[in-house]
Amino acid sequence: MREALEKIRSEALAAIAAAQESAALESLRVRYSGKKGELTGILKMMGKLSAEERPKMGQLANDVRAALEAAFTARAAELADRALAAQLKSEAVDVTVPAAPISVGHQHPLTIVINEVRTIFEAMGFETVEGPEVEYDYYNFEALNTPPNHPARDTQDTFYFSDNMLLRTQTSSVQVRTMEHRKPPIRVIAPGRVYRSDAVDATHSPLFTQIEGLAVDKGITFTDLKGTLDLFFKQLYGPETRTRFRPHHFAYTEPSAEMDMSCFKCGGKGCPMCKGEGWIEILGCGMVHPKVLENCGIDPNVYSGFAFGMGLERIALMRYDIDDMRLLFENDLRFLRQFR
Ligand SMILES: [Zn+2]
Repeated sequence: MREALEKIRSEALAAIAAAQESAALESLRVRYSGKKGELTGILKMMGKLSAEERPKMGQLANDVRAALEAAFTARAAELADRALAAQLKSEAVDVTVPAAPISVGHQHPLTIVINEVRTIFEAMGFETVEGPEVEYDYYNFEALNTPPNHPARDTQDTFYFSDNMLLRTQTSSVQVRTMEHRKPPIRVIAPGRVYRSDAVDATHSPLFTQIEGLAVDKGITFTDLKGTLDLFFKQLYGPETRTRFRPHHFAYTEPSAEMDMSCFKCGGKGCPMCKGEGWIEILGCGMVHPKVLENCGIDPNVYSGFAFGMGLERIALMRYDIDDMRLLFENDLRFLRQFR
């Protein structure tokens, strides 16, 4: 029996030392020290021993059991340490490796200009409002004093969905929508895309961007219009910028004017930019037609207002010295990256 115990001890200790995984170690524990294990099997034969031998064998069996338990525990700890070390190694993060560059986008030149224009007008108390690009004929034309068959419609031919629904030709539609549900005082600007069935060339596009401005209150006069726009262009192109107004006709303003600003390149002396004139035609404006106020439920005998609209592409082209409007829409990255 002593030999059997010694054999178990040496075999088991060797097997424990050789175990490479905790699962293998666990099956060794069952095999040697489990309830049906080899050690238990031998202890069941104790009854056959002499009274003299029994305590000695009992002592030896306990020693063997204790030795095996100690070996199991030590090996289990070793294997756990090794597994942890392997995991740490495989999941290690090298904090000195340079990070992958994050690709940061930037604004389109048109967006930059829209935001500049908004900032200037917002400082003067104008709020930015929006309206739908798919618009009813009523808001795009009729409420703006341009009934069917009005000749002004010919200059703004657009894309129709049906007889009374179209892609808006001007952001002026937002004026009407604003006045319909707000009471004066009103001070808003409305930037947005507009559409006309124009062929594409260096200065025309079937899609372009306008910004509309509207102020309605008691006692608004043409002086307010001139002062507001003059200040705007001085902010945008510099304090030396001058403006002038020429009589014009629009169906929805009375009186109406076109505004020129002094050429920002030559200061008014005449250059290729201004075609030698010293002035650059920049926007249309006027006092809101009494009929338009009336259409929107605002009493023209109490209130008056001014409105203006300008193309933002033109502003962007001049601001960045770009000679072809198509560049703004072609999404050529070589072009766009210059505005980072
Ligand atoms: Zn010039």
